[in-house]
Amino acid sequence: LPSAIYSDRRNSAGIEFGDRDSLAKLVRDMDKNKAAVDAVPLMPGLKADGDKKPVMSPSDPDQQVGTIIWAEASAVQPAFDVAKKGFAEWSRRPVEERALALEKAADLMEEHHARLMRLLSDEAGKTLDDGLAEIREAVDFCRYYAIQARKMFAGPMAMPGPTGEDDSYRWRGRGVFTCISPWNFPLAIFMGQITAALVSGNAVIAKPAPQTPLIAFEAIKLLHQAGVPENALLFLPGGPELGAAITEHPDLGGVAFTGSTATARAINRTLAAKDGPITPLIAETGGLNAMIVDATALPEQVADDVVMSAFRSAGQRCSALRILYVQQDIADRMIDMIEGAAMELNMADPSKPDTDMGPVIDKKQWQMLADHVADMKQNQKLRYAGKAPEKGTFFAPHIVELDKPGSLTKEVFGPILHIVRYKAGELDKVCDQISATGYGLTLGIHSRISGTAERVVRRMDTGNIYVNRNMIGAVVGTQPFGGSGLSGTGFKAGGPAYLLRFALEQVVSVNT
Ligand code: GLU
Repeated sequence: LPSAIYSDRRNSAGIEFGDRDSLAKLVRDMDKNKAAVDAVPLMPGLKADGDKKPVMSPSDPDQQVGTIIWAEASAVQPAFDVAKKGFAEWSRRPVEERALALEKAADLMEEHHARLMRLLSDEAGKTLDDGLAEIREAVDFCRYYAIQARKMFAGPMAMPGPTGEDDSYRWRGRGVFTCISPWNFPLAIFMGQITAALVSGNAVIAKPAPQTPLIAFEAIKLLHQAGVPENALLFLPGGPELGAAITEHPDLGGVAFTGSTATARAINRTLAAKDGPITPLIAETGGLNAMIVDATALPEQVADDVVMSAFRSAGQRCSALRILYVQQDIADRMIDMIEGAAMELNMADPSKPDTDMGPVIDKKQWQMLADHVADMKQNQKLRYAGKAPEKGTFFAPHIVELDKPGSLTKEVFGPILHIVRYKAGELDKVCDQISATGYGLTLGIHSRISGTAERVVRRMDTGNIYVNRNMIGAVVGTQPFGGSGLSGTGFKAGGPAYLLRFALEQVVSVNT
């Protein structure tokens, strides 16, 4: 494998929010970019003449962000016909050309950041912090995968062989990939999946989350502008029916999916049952992520990291903290501090600079969270319930104390923190309880005893472990991201092995 660390790699610089002038300029530029987006399926030969459906903002149900025309399942066969031709052409292009297109797309995203941030805020409810972090991650994915592809796919690699024979090893694209992406990172994960597939030599049928088609549409247009041919990258927005029609197609070369574990299982079953070749699935799914805090931890730092990990992005990250295990000896004080910090969070219009938390994505998610809190109120101890603005789907931070760790077994995707107390000497037991959930995405550890973290790490299969810091916001090329067990198949996004899943190996032996 190529090394994970490249001296020629640099992450996107972003904007310094501490500098008032830069921040004021960003807000002005975002205001200038309020124009509605009218998104349509993008595929050569397809006439988008369906109904224009309004897309409303989660933070203000009266604000229309734009319109979308959904693709019908009947578009799927023509889409494969187009994309197969696109694949034949695109996969033959030199890897340098494919890598350059990704780098150009990265530059374009930086150039149009105000427009993208406007949409991230209006359509996905992202705060300025989250919106900027998301653009930087999308940019990083493009640049990182471009570098990776150059190193890995540059040309046939000579293999040692007997005299009189030339043996070579090379990679090629798998065919037509579909990328099915989530609403919680409608730009970064969407772009990450697509650019990995494209640079490895595949054509892509992109299906964005039904909640966030507009930002996805803008991203696809930037990729086309950057030089990706329209027949190698198709945009088919739609719901589960459309997704099923794509994944059932016999010509499908692979699936990159990020979303719930249940949907990943359903896709896996569909792929197993369909005709045609055995199709690989790259799935990044949920987590029931824990943080362990022992009595030696630094309380102020814990409070900050817990609030950040559990409530930032309104808890809508699969990396977010769901269950905090805190040692009994410091639990009361620690929980008080966390509650105090949660009370300070400002929930408001996500496009305002002093907003800490925006809305959850839609009414359905809101209701799921409200039902969970109602259940917790009945059966567990609800310690804290914040207050949310009434307009829009805002859901305030909640803190629940569980009587036993097994009381929560499924991922609850929102700003609800669960707390479990443990006694000194029970660290191994806590690790085993966390592993028993079957998920293995992120884990936090707060301890000043050297050796404790190492002991926990050795016991766990968790994909991303964070020690004495928050546990969200993995950085491309620095913290390759993805889990094990119920949390996904690997390989890790933004890591040195990711592209391999998108490519086929080929060996040619020539008798000379
Ligand atoms: N990579 C993100 C993080 O580290 C989470 C991705 C997701 O929610 O799917 O916070």
